[in-house]
Amino acid sequence: MRLIMLGPPGAGKGTQAAVVSQTHGIPAISTGDIFRANIKNETPLGLQVKEITASGGYVPDEITNAIVRDRLSEPDAAGGFLLDGYPRTAGQVDALDGMLAESGHALDAVVELTVDTEEVVQRLLARAVDQGRADDTEEVIRERMRLYAEETAPLAALYRERGLLTQVDGMGTVEEVTARIEAALADAARS
Ligand code: ADP
Repeated sequence: MRLIMLGPPGAGKGTQAAVVSQTHGIPAISTGDIFRANIKNETPLGLQVKEITASGGYVPDEITNAIVRDRLSEPDAAGGFLLDGYPRTAGQVDALDGMLAESGHALDAVVELTVDTEEVVQRLLARAVDQGRADDTEEVIRERMRLYAEETAPLAALYRERGLLTQVDGMGTVEEVTARIEAALADAARS
């Protein structure tokens, strides 16, 4: 299965991606995690993207696309994958289309987690305390939300036109949301 998980910062994409990945035996690939690991290890890529991610901006498409291309070429992604936090721009959608076309594969579904924005800001502020992420200050969170609304939310319409979009209510417990996602995936598989 080849899936995309869409949703604003703090919607719980990472948490749900981990569960779905386990259940379906596919790797969850998070561009945010890849960037954070590189920043932590002070790799050249990490140094390149550190400031951008800390301010809530988007890493340029050329960099992000190259990273995803590399990651998708690893053996564990050959039979399927779940992308968390990618694509985020129209340019990334095009790039991903190209990668899929080259490998002769198609997406099975795009799951959009919908949430109440204010509640999500509160979730992110709570997470900042737990995890100490540099991009979890209120100002940066607002900027990430703004960019999401401007650049990434419109991608849902694009996937809807392709008949791939399934919207899932992201509010509630982790288990409730997981159950909704699994129901949506089962529906998508039938249609
Ligand atoms: P969020 O909690 O905002 O969904 P992520 O962990 O997915 O955060 O990403 C953290 C940061 O990494 C983003 O704010 C952005 O700076 C950068 N990033 C992650 N994925 C992408 C992408 N697909 N394109 C551009 N920048 C990205």
